[in-house]
Amino acid sequence: MRWKRRRQILMTEKAEMVKEMIRQLGDDAVLYRDEDLLTYECDGLTVYRGMPIAVVFPSSTAEVSGVVKWLYENDIPFIPRGAGTGLSGGATPLGGEVIISLVRMKKLLHLDYDNREAVVQPGYINLALTNSITNKGFYYAPDPSSQSNCTIGGNVAENAGGAHCLKYGVTTNHVLGLEVVLHNGEVIDIGGVPDTPGYDLMGLLTGSEGTLGIVTAITVRILKNPEGKETAMAYFDTVEDASYAVSDIIAAGIVPAAIEMMDEIAIQGVERATKPAGHPEGSKAVLIMEVDGIAAGIEEQIKDMVSVCERHNVTEIKVAKNDRERGRWWANRKTAFGAMGAISPDYLVQDGVIPRSRLSEVLANIADISAESGLRIANVFHAGDGNLHPLILFDARNEGETDLALKVGSQTLEACTAAGGSITGEHGVGIEKKEDMRLVFTEREIDRQLNVRSVFNPNNMLNPDKQFPKPARCGEVKQAVGSGEAHQVVGQG
Ligand SMILES: Cc1cc2nc3c(=O)[nH]c(=O)nc-3n(C[C@H](O)[C@H](O)[C@H](O)COP(=O)(O)OP(=O)(O)OC[C@H]3O[C@@H](n4cnc5c(N)ncnc54)[C@H](O)[C@@H]3O)c2cc1C
Repeated sequence: MRWKRRRQILMTEKAEMVKEMIRQLGDDAVLYRDEDLLTYECDGLTVYRGMPIAVVFPSSTAEVSGVVKWLYENDIPFIPRGAGTGLSGGATPLGGEVIISLVRMKKLLHLDYDNREAVVQPGYINLALTNSITNKGFYYAPDPSSQSNCTIGGNVAENAGGAHCLKYGVTTNHVLGLEVVLHNGEVIDIGGVPDTPGYDLMGLLTGSEGTLGIVTAITVRILKNPEGKETAMAYFDTVEDASYAVSDIIAAGIVPAAIEMMDEIAIQGVERATKPAGHPEGSKAVLIMEVDGIAAGIEEQIKDMVSVCERHNVTEIKVAKNDRERGRWWANRKTAFGAMGAISPDYLVQDGVIPRSRLSEVLANIADISAESGLRIANVFHAGDGNLHPLILFDARNEGETDLALKVGSQTLEACTAAGGSITGEHGVGIEKKEDMRLVFTEREIDRQLNVRSVFNPNNMLNPDKQFPKPARCGEVKQAVGSGEAHQVVGQG
């Protein structure tokens, strides 16, 4: 209902809004024609789509603030957007919003090597930071596989993780301060001082998926490059053996920088689609394991990991000969999602978390879900963190198969929560997993979180209706997301 009303208002007021946006930002910073808006119908999760009424490209905090103030006063909802690589529909319009793209705010504002800090604008690309400081011997640790495209603003909004977050922590562990434009255009600074008293607003904002404010500057921690680093690849004849090797490595007290796993289907995909890493044919699972730190201890850690793998029937193990080989292995792993395109017309990425000790059991459950549904599921994931990424392979051209893939995706999350896990490790809730929030939270807990949201986003104008299901007390427990509502509310006339 609400969206219909808002759409009608927008149809009559759109011209005035576009005029105002052009007045504030210039005519090269506003898109409003249907053909220009199509790109912004969705993020990396392409099964949900909705049309924005405009996309604007501010270049400074003052411009973001001015745009937000006007939209707020004119009752027009808006969505912050980075690179649009999100995989849960966080930047996807439900229909009728203005998208505020942060991609023109892409400056590295300040570097402080003594205090090991960098300040960036939100549109700054994740990998660009490491590339800018590597010659001084520094790097930025959170490394989502999308790091050559995604923005640090988007990483903050999703609390992004990555292969090396096992040892170094996810985005929230590296954010030291934020500048934020609030729902009404007001600008606040949070954090920036060690051990700030009061509530942990930085913790709250990080991972809030653009529903509590628009991040316009980020102070992050930068780290000194480790003195030594070794990477090993281990192959197994069963997923169970690989899974037990992962939990035993951690149980043995070894803290690898990363342990990633790919199963047989994923291996087939990467070998076909990307520069082959030479994975032996027929391997049922591969672990990519990296240790880093003070050079003296590295060799011993690798030896310890090798002996754990041997106890679990490893069939082959190799250590990267040099940085080039290591780089090739990581590139092979990091392109794994996209590589599914070589073996399936469509795929859906899921993102569950489980206790590491339950890896083998949950992967077996996922195999059962696959067999029952008839859809192949590849597994590529941050095994050391217990952060699973079942990739559900399907063909959208077959009637009903997209809905089946979505259902199978939810079933994999149910398998994770049943094992004491959760529904997202790093990709966020967005549109996709709103209803799945009920697998982890009671109605009362959801309600409390919505109370917090209403402090920062009182009218639900800032990335509306994302991240949480509608409270049951509204009598609308099952919102139609997942059943095509996003498609139906599309359009701005
Ligand atoms: C091939 C591939 C691999 C991936 N691998 C990983 C991985 O290893 N780890 C991982 O965590 N993720 C991964 N992702 C998911 C995605 O890249 C991350 O979620 C990333 O953080 C999104 O950044 P973005 O700039 O693309 O944000 P967008 O997709 O544009 O936006 C994501 C969310 O953030 C909000 N947002 C964006 N910018 C701001 C801002 N400045 N202020 C407030 N809110 C904002 C949006 O409203 C939206 O809700 C992967 C994606 C792909 C396609």
